[in-house]
Amino acid sequence: MGEWLRDGDHVLGLDIGGTKIMATVLDADLRVVGRCRKKSKSRKNGESAEGRIFEIVEEALSDAKNVKIRGIGVGSPGPLDPKTGVIIDTPNLGWKDFPLADILAKRYGVPVVVDNDVNVGTYGEWRLGAVRDCEDLVGIFPGTGIGGGIIINGRLLHGYSGAAGEVGHITLEWNGPYCGCGKRGCLEALASRIAIAKEIAALAARGDAPYIAENCGTDLANIRSGAIAKAIEAGEKMVEGVVRKAAYYTGIAAADLINILSPEAVVLGGGLVEAMTSIYLEEVRRAVEEHAMPFLRRNVRIVPAKLGDDAVVLGAGVLIAERLGR
Ligand SMILES: [Zn+2]
Repeated sequence: MGEWLRDGDHVLGLDIGGTKIMATVLDADLRVVGRCRKKSKSRKNGESAEGRIFEIVEEALSDAKNVKIRGIGVGSPGPLDPKTGVIIDTPNLGWKDFPLADILAKRYGVPVVVDNDVNVGTYGEWRLGAVRDCEDLVGIFPGTGIGGGIIINGRLLHGYSGAAGEVGHITLEWNGPYCGCGKRGCLEALASRIAIAKEIAALAARGDAPYIAENCGTDLANIRSGAIAKAIEAGEKMVEGVVRKAAYYTGIAAADLINILSPEAVVLGGGLVEAMTSIYLEEVRRAVEEHAMPFLRRNVRIVPAKLGDDAVVLGAGVLIAERLGR
């Protein structure tokens, strides 16, 4: 894969999340030669979010024996402007109109590219993961929220605002449950891990999900993807029904995207899909069969993501490597 960098060159990929920050140093073949991963919130009093990021970047560099890097690629929660690398608003990190690209470029003296974390994850899956050999694809990542990334003609789709690809906020039930965005009936309100956990907690509370009741209780934060998968393995049919319904909703969104964009592949990732891959593939394929137009859905591959937690750091590394190599 060393088509963008010269031998001996290195780049740094950075994944800034609400709960964890991860940095990896990649060589010219995009192999990981150093890494650091820590919680986003520092225990040190008064350490700023950017201070925490510098600390993590510098530990990854030192893990890579302080090789010289030629650029930094970043996946960050949005909304953000990928042209300027300014983060518009991320409540979790306390950033508003925050010039992340400039701050990193100034400190490390190298070019920096910043994009939405899910876009970058989709890019990683495209370049290094599950869907390498196509030009048009859609990534859907159901987790605590539901993110999406769209690549058309071999380029990330940003749209007029810079923030295209908000797959989680496709409206599926116009008077459905409220979403974190303030609208009703978005895919995310119907099918995120939080939406699933809410329904499963109700099952647990009334005695219909004993595995969940015993192992997680009814606190939504404790009803994680792995536990949900175990409850299904233990034979809890109602829990399985809740997950299948959410996966089917995700598939309806995929079908809409297929009708509009005609991608060659849909890649499914994130914690829920990793924990319950076969249920997600079955239900998404069924929904696509039932809701996408026959000519448009023909030969579309629906595949699970391959890179797991590394999708964003690797995608960020490829983004900057390509930018440098052009
Ligand atoms: Zn929404």
